[in-house]
Amino acid sequence: MSSGDERYDVVVVGARCAGAPLAALLARQGFEVCLVEKAQLSGDTPSTHVFEADALAFLDSLGVLDGLRATGAPLVARADARVGEVRWPAVWPVRAGDPGGVMSVRRFRLDPLLAETARDAGATLLTGTAVTELVRAENGRVTGVRVSSATGGEETRGGTADERVLKARLVVGADGRASTVARLAGSRSYHVTRNQFALFWGYFEGAQIGEPTFVFHRWADRFVLGIPTDGGLYQVQVGVDPARVGEFRAGLPGSLLEYARAAEPVAEALAGARPVGTPRGTTHWKGYFREPTGPGWVLVGDAGHFKDPTGGRGIGDAFLQAAELARTLAGRLTGEAAQLDEALRRWGTWRDAEFVEPYWFAADLGSLAPLPAVLPEVLRGMRRAGVADSLFELVNHRAAPTDILTGPRLLAAVGRLLARGRIGVLREVARLAAADRRRRALAARPCYETC
Ligand SMILES: Cc1cc2nc3c(=O)[nH]c(=O)nc-3n(C[C@H](O)[C@H](O)[C@H](O)COP(=O)(O)OP(=O)(O)OC[C@H]3O[C@@H](n4cnc5c(N)ncnc54)[C@H](O)[C@@H]3O)c2cc1C
Repeated sequence: MSSGDERYDVVVVGARCAGAPLAALLARQGFEVCLVEKAQLSGDTPSTHVFEADALAFLDSLGVLDGLRATGAPLVARADARVGEVRWPAVWPVRAGDPGGVMSVRRFRLDPLLAETARDAGATLLTGTAVTELVRAENGRVTGVRVSSATGGEETRGGTADERVLKARLVVGADGRASTVARLAGSRSYHVTRNQFALFWGYFEGAQIGEPTFVFHRWADRFVLGIPTDGGLYQVQVGVDPARVGEFRAGLPGSLLEYARAAEPVAEALAGARPVGTPRGTTHWKGYFREPTGPGWVLVGDAGHFKDPTGGRGIGDAFLQAAELARTLAGRLTGEAAQLDEALRRWGTWRDAEFVEPYWFAADLGSLAPLPAVLPEVLRGMRRAGVADSLFELVNHRAAPTDILTGPRLLAAVGRLLARGRIGVLREVARLAAADRRRRALAARPCYETC
């Protein structure tokens, strides 16, 4: 069945962390927005769900904080941090006006709240509706999408198969890692990396939570995260060497519990706790940037950029991109196409500059290679100076890795290691410096996935 074209200012494809807030912000600016989502949002998505102070501030400004708190997830103000052999109790850094430090809410609860916010703001929400094609003008400019709603979404007509065209001045691909919009637009990937750890996560009831604390322990070839989440559950996440994945998977949920207990505060929390549901795992993914924009289209969130999730930044970064894109589009959607394209090109330049350092840092964090000795030594020095908690400003996206791992701190750490006879640190630093040079060169001249 085919019906007449519908016209919007913007069609946003994908209604989760990037698409739904963007649609809400644009609808609040008075634009006609259509938010198209192929799934039913009550379903889950294969992702954990820790987000930090900047994300909480954004969610508060969006008006969804009460909804999040109603899930029973606590606002967490403390961390138990371990990097190599350096472990310390941290107070999560926040700014005046931040509602909290860090929170974990499962995606089947978080994402519908975001989509409802977009709908309440006036966006048309079409769930169960997949974008299958980009519609283009004769000059190649994207002017809309073709959608198919074979399964019957909330607002489709009675669940009958329906194909139609949604015309728009701008099509936003917020459709995740396997982005249809990116593929159809021909956007190329660059800075591509492959994961090293596999990630497994699960939930426990009856955990001894006490004062809600975010446990982040990264040592040797191990990574354990623990945090109270919604519904009174305790979330545990671990990084597994791919060589051990088969054995690990076969031993679930016991293998998850055993691994997680290697981190003392998680072992304490889980004493007497019972697993709930089946643990999940992701064994393969790529990190990348994709060409962000072209005539009539732009990519936001995972559709345009994905980094190793060990650092837990995808959700907050999707919010940051959506907020900046909404600011960029203010007053420009109804003007000249060339001005819109130029504004979007600048937004793309901003995106790359903003996220390239955290991208490489996340790749290092998710690396199976032993942590460079200089990193815990820098943190040891920061602990002595009483500023180690500022490490978490990295995951608040309020400091860049180079703001924390500064030249003077690195030099002092190297000096201390040398004084203890750790000559090998010189080789390590030379390796880190070479990687840094390579990455800077790539930023200036990206290597595309096809190259
Ligand atoms: C294992 C793992 C753990 C993670 N843990 C964390 C964490 O703890 N904290 C954190 O901040 N981030 C984490 N992330 C990253 C986080 O999941 C993503 O960065 C975030 O989901 C990005 O949101 P998005 O809206 O861009 O994409 P998505 O959440 O992927 O949403 C895209 C949406 O687009 C829809 N869609 C796709 N194609 C079409 C189409 N053709 N038509 C219509 N709709 C379409 C999809 O159905 C989907 O709903 C993790 C990721 C992984 C893989």
